[in-house]
Amino acid sequence: MARLEKYEGIDPVVWSEIYMTEPQGLKDQEWFANQIVRFAVDPELWSPHGFLSTLQAVEGQMQRVKKQINGPRIIDLDLILFGDEVIESGEFLTVPHARAKDRAFVLHPLAELESELTFPDGTKVSDALDKIDYRIEGKKIYQD
Ligand code: ADP
Ligand code: MG
Repeated sequence: MARLEKYEGIDPVVWSEIYMTEPQGLKDQEWFANQIVRFAVDPELWSPHGFLSTLQAVEGQMQRVKKQINGPRIIDLDLILFGDEVIESGEFLTVPHARAKDRAFVLHPLAELESELTFPDGTKVSDALDKIDYRIEGKKIYQD
């Protein structure tokens, strides 16, 4: 968030708690930390593609820093929603994020920020949550 807000026209507005998600498959590794941030993005300066490129640039910067301190951690910055836009431009960018509606670690923090949130196709975030099988204990999210 600190790295992104340095860019002109990208301002964090509100962010969820950080949730810990159990790794799927290989259980013998660190849990994932997940957070949703809503940014106010100036549409005169940023297209969805431009914004995703910037997320990727920041991922690149952070992986480099992590390598220097020898910590094999990975950062993953995904674009979940861009207002009401629906974008399907091949591999590079799909908005809403293709797997957003299946993932409790996306939906639960989205609902925390905006319980009435609706996807561009009309699906309510609360209805999407009802459809998936998951469990929350405090800040821990379990989903197979
Ligand atoms: P993950 O699916 O686990 O986030 P990656 O971060 O490696 O995996 O995703 C890689 C590719 O997904 C990138 O090449 C990117 O262009 C593409 N992509 C498509 N739509 C999106 C989106 N909404 N947010 C982030 N990446 C996206
Ligand atoms: Mg990603």
